[in-house]
Amino acid sequence: MTRGQIANVDLVKQVNCSAVYRLIDSRGPISRVRIAELSHLAPASVTKITRTLLEQGLIRELEHQASTGGRRAISLTTVTQDFYLVSAKLGREELLLTLYDLSGKAHGRQRLPFPRREQDILLAALHRHLADFIQRHGSGRRLVAVAVIMPGLTDAQAGRVIHHPSYPLAGVPLAHALGQALSLPVFIGNDIRAQALAEHYYGASKDSLDSVLVSVHHGVGAGIITEGRIFKSQGRDVAEIGHIHMDPLGDRCDCGNVGCLETMVADAALLRQASHMLAQGYRSCLAGQTLSMQALCRAALAEDRLALTIVRRAAERLGQALAIVVNLFNPQRVLLSGALCEAEDIVFPIINQAIIHQSLPGFHQGLPIIRARFQDDQTIGGLALVKRALLEGELLQRIMEPKP
Ligand SMILES: [Zn+2]
Repeated sequence: MTRGQIANVDLVKQVNCSAVYRLIDSRGPISRVRIAELSHLAPASVTKITRTLLEQGLIRELEHQASTGGRRAISLTTVTQDFYLVSAKLGREELLLTLYDLSGKAHGRQRLPFPRREQDILLAALHRHLADFIQRHGSGRRLVAVAVIMPGLTDAQAGRVIHHPSYPLAGVPLAHALGQALSLPVFIGNDIRAQALAEHYYGASKDSLDSVLVSVHHGVGAGIITEGRIFKSQGRDVAEIGHIHMDPLGDRCDCGNVGCLETMVADAALLRQASHMLAQGYRSCLAGQTLSMQALCRAALAEDRLALTIVRRAAERLGQALAIVVNLFNPQRVLLSGALCEAEDIVFPIINQAIIHQSLPGFHQGLPIIRARFQDDQTIGGLALVKRALLEGELLQRIMEPKP
């Protein structure tokens, strides 16, 4: 056999193995016979693959009474709670760390200030914090990967940062650098895209293959899931919904253009509008209060005119942008994440109306707009990146490789 043929045989083995693991993950408990039927693999191959997965502790057998009576049947199910990962969110001047097991349960968290520094010092500090956290929370546990999620743009496939809004990391092969330093596979990605995937695997869009998550916080971003995968371009980020042009005479955006959606509906923009109107002498229960999104949403729900006007206008503009996304992607679910969800009763019907009036009838019929589940778990996206690497085979192979 030539080298090329050997590589091909290995590749076929990998592909078959991950196909079997995916079936057990999505359909389990499932019998070997059923796996063979659904995967079109020979029963002997299924037996061989499941034996290896059992040896690695990735799946386990469940014995139960067969529906036909008589002999007891054996089904297979995945074991997720014995495998751990660390997810790090490299936010805006802060670092959040969480240890999860693969079922999604968190076992330890840490939040640290993480100021902007020179690239080398920054990378060394990131490595040190991760290593300390792993030592404190991960010892004695089977740690299989680390994920780093961040605002900005990444090339997830190459493991490279393209742009981070707070740190000088452009062009840094972060996954490779940290992977070497920590001796673990490292996956990176944009935080909102990764959250959309987490909602698909574990949360509010679990029952649909196509969904859109729109997140309104410091900026406005979206994650589009099509056929159960993050919609992307050659591994690079897409869906920068926050920079859809809305107003030719609008405010200057961080991206350099004017009138982008996020200059109108991001948290800071709404608070700026409120403070500007209060300074003009508009009457509101917010006068004299410390302005926050929570206070603004509460005032809107209490029918304060100024707060209500600001929140309604933001919902209309978000709805306009979302109608464009619905026309382009025809999702089964639209998820909203962010402080604006506090005023859900005002915001959701307005977004809904905008989508109904501005997208194709066949695309918006029965399209629910729902609250994202993981509003408060900022590191959840990292869990999804690791789960994806496991389901798609890359991490599965690393776990199954014999240890040197
Ligand atoms: Zn912009």
